[in-house]
Amino acid sequence: AMTDHLLVLEGLAATYNHAIRVLSHVSLTMRRGEIVALLGANGAGKSTTLKAISNLLNAERGQLTRGHILFDGRDTTALPPAELVRLGLVPVLEGRRCFRTLTVEENLVAGGIGGGLSRREVAAGLERVYTLFPHLGERRRSASGLTSGGEQQMTAIGRALMARPRLLVLDEPSMGLAPLVVETIFSTLKGLNGEEGLSILVAEQNSTVALRYAHRAVVLDGGSTVLERDAADLRGRAEITALYLGSP
Ligand code: ATP
Repeated sequence: AMTDHLLVLEGLAATYNHAIRVLSHVSLTMRRGEIVALLGANGAGKSTTLKAISNLLNAERGQLTRGHILFDGRDTTALPPAELVRLGLVPVLEGRRCFRTLTVEENLVAGGIGGGLSRREVAAGLERVYTLFPHLGERRRSASGLTSGGEQQMTAIGRALMARPRLLVLDEPSMGLAPLVVETIFSTLKGLNGEEGLSILVAEQNSTVALRYAHRAVVLDGGSTVLERDAADLRGRAEITALYLGSP
C-alpha cells in the first residue's frame, strides 16, 4: 500500500538553466526504516536528485521539469525546504556545510531552531547528539571552521538530527574523510536506524562502504535509474561496480 512507502520518486526530470538536462527519469521507492544507498558515477545525478527531493534546485537555477515526489503519502514536489524539514525530511547536502565562524554547539542549535524546537527540546537534542558523537561534546566551544573534516561532517549530521528527521538525506558523507572516520559516521547512522528506525537516503561515490550499511541500493546512470536492488545482491559484485560506478 501507498502508506508503506516513506518516499516515492516518480519519473523525475530536471534541468539547470532551462537548458542542461541532468535528470531524465529518476524513480525510486523507499519504505519506512530503510537505509537506501543512491549510487552512481561522478555526474550521474545523485546530488541533483537529493536537491530535487529537498526542493533546493532553485537556488542553483535548476528546476524539476517532470515527475512527482511523494513523502509519507503526500505530494511534496512543490513544498518549500523549511516546510519539508518541518515534516521530517531533513537534508545534509554537499558534505558538511557548517557556519565556520559559529561554534559547534551554535551550529547544532541552529538546526533545532530550524526544526521549530523549544529551548528544552534543544537542550535534550544537544545531549543526544553529544551521546552519539562524543567527540563533538569535547569540541562544543570550538569554531566549526577550526575543527577537522570529520568533526564538520558530524556537526552537519548532528545539526540535521536536531530537527528530528524521519528521513535523513545525505550527500556523500564520506567525501574527503579518513576510512576510520567514515566507519564511525556510518556505524552511528546504522545505530540510529536500528534503534529508532530512522530512514536514511544516502548518496555515495564510495559504493563499498554504502553497500555494507544499506538495505537497498538504487543506481543512477546518465540521469536515470538503472538498477534498484537489495544491497546484499550488489556487495562484492565488481562487474556492476565497474559498469556503473566507475572505480570503487
Ligand atoms: P557528483 O558526485 O560529481 O556530485 P552526481 O552524481 O552527484 O555527481 P550531479 O552533481 O547531480 O551528479 O551532477 C549531474 C550533472 O549536472 C553533471 O553533469 C553536472 O556537471 C551538472 N550540474 C550539477 N550542478 C549544476 C549546476 N548548478 N549548474 C549546471 N550544471 C550542473
